[in-house]
Amino acid sequence: MDVPVFAVPQPPLNEAERLDFLFSCGILDTPPDERFDRITRLATQFYEADVAFLGFIDDRYQWMKSIRGDGVAPWIERDQSVCQIVISSGEPLVVGDMQTDPRLAGHPVIPHLPFRFYAGVPLLTENGAAVASLCIMKRESQSKDGFNLSPLKDLGAIAMDELELWRINQQLKRAAETDRLTDLANRHVFDATLERAWGRLQRTSRPLSLLMLDIDHFKALNDASGHQAGDEALRQFARVLSTAVRCSDDLAARYGGEEFSLILPDTDRAGALKVADMLQASLARAEIPHPTSTHGRVTASIGLATTGPDDVDNLQTLVAHADAALYQAKRDGRNRTVAWAGA
Ligand code: GH3
Ligand code: MG
Ligand code: MG
Repeated sequence: MDVPVFAVPQPPLNEAERLDFLFSCGILDTPPDERFDRITRLATQFYEADVAFLGFIDDRYQWMKSIRGDGVAPWIERDQSVCQIVISSGEPLVVGDMQTDPRLAGHPVIPHLPFRFYAGVPLLTENGAAVASLCIMKRESQSKDGFNLSPLKDLGAIAMDELELWRINQQLKRAAETDRLTDLANRHVFDATLERAWGRLQRTSRPLSLLMLDIDHFKALNDASGHQAGDEALRQFARVLSTAVRCSDDLAARYGGEEFSLILPDTDRAGALKVADMLQASLARAEIPHPTSTHGRVTASIGLATTGPDDVDNLQTLVAHADAALYQAKRDGRNRTVAWAGA
């Protein structure tokens, strides 16, 4: 007798839109959350199910945001998921006995599961994209005739509302932290990140470096080429700056106007000087037009300060040192880096 092979369902037609929405939520890989746990809790209680779970399905995996009960892995490959059928069709699925249902014959995982009954509903966006599924499973099989799907659908809709709120919160948070013109972190994030880096310096005693950057003769660029060209130069400058961010703990920020900053935790003066040199070289290569500059392109002055745990008493002093070095770079003729070397 031929061994049946499970036919992996095709992705839905709106797969790209589905994934866009899912990734924009920023929810994959986040820890369990009561807002979703209460939904799976209710689902197990109402249906007297052995497990309930809420899983997001991306292009490769199903990530469980909430699991109630034992026997469900925190993530599985999409091809091995039963819920992918719900995602693929965008419709609820009820299976009285997964072990014998012909639609699941040859499935790679089901024979190893201690469950027989399955009911799942999709979480649908306004545009009908199925981004997740809310499911229950029981160890015993159960006839699907007479199974009341309505409460599971309602719980799925509540979960979708929570997901939408989560997504909006993420967007608001991102907007509150991002400088709109350049897409870099804004001053607020700079302050908070420097504060955290300062705390880390006290704990680890590893040096902390700060670069303050100021575009040279930027007012002249605005005056000669107009504000829009000035804005575009700021955007391009920001792109150059973002390439200097190599470690996840580094932060490039717009400090204000045409002033930028780079926070480099665990970086000594020599390391920070290297970053500054690399930045000056990238800026030269970028050739951002500046009609009245003697270089014909945008240049910047950089002030650099580094501190160990005992060098300065507070953060403000570190910022003041980087600022003083920056103004020294301006006085020395611009288009250069100066490292703070003491008063
Ligand atoms: P220096 O070499 O001494 O730094 O000279 P500068 O002209 O760059 O410095 P100054 O501080 O005199 O001028 C900064 C200019 O940056 C003035 C301000 O209008 C402009 N600016 C600040 N924010 C923006 C912005 O968002 N867009 C544009 N286009 N210009 C901005
Ligand atoms: Mg300035
Ligand atoms: Mg300037």
